[in-house]
Amino acid sequence: MQTSAPLLGEPLPVELMNTVWADRDGLHDALGATATTQAWLRAIAPRADLLTEEDLDALTAADTSHLAERLSRLRAALRRLAAQATGDPRTAASSPVRELDTAVTELNRTAAAVPRWPELVWEAGRAPSRLTRASGQATAAAVSALAQEAVDLFAGPDRLRLRACLAPGCVLYFAKHHSRREWCSTNCGNRARAARHYQRHRASRT
Ligand SMILES: [Zn+2]
Repeated sequence: MQTSAPLLGEPLPVELMNTVWADRDGLHDALGATATTQAWLRAIAPRADLLTEEDLDALTAADTSHLAERLSRLRAALRRLAAQATGDPRTAASSPVRELDTAVTELNRTAAAVPRWPELVWEAGRAPSRLTRASGQATAAAVSALAQEAVDLFAGPDRLRLRACLAPGCVLYFAKHHSRREWCSTNCGNRARAARHYQRHRASRT
């Protein structure tokens, strides 16, 4: 199974925000069920600390549904914080979390839930490397790691690069790393240009 989430190569906290996406049929949730949550975790695993194929294979249905719950609570908090950072005017994109401090508390609680620490691995004759250890289940720790990455994102300069995509009907966020990037995707850019063209055309006729 493949994730329905539009993975845009954004920082992982932004990819998590974008597991809520929209098309002509309305809003979709790429984490809505156990299987879809597994599919999303597998899709981001190569970019995430602590997410290995083996650990994902070992998850029970109960584990996965617990993870889905934590991820969706974290996502609601992140979307509230992103709305704050971007001055997001899109009502369709609004988070179920209303208060800013509720979102902050949720993010911090998730970041602290499963402690992680780096470990040095160095055997004679081999190159040293860094490993992340966790006090709980690795996959659960990965959710905490994702929350910690979000703390860094919102507390650091990347917050100022965060944008809400204002193409018609889009509910996604992206990090603007190129001055010319205005939309989350070329698809949204094309739709926004078409909408602008249509409006100009209609205005000139009336
Ligand atoms: Zn978009």
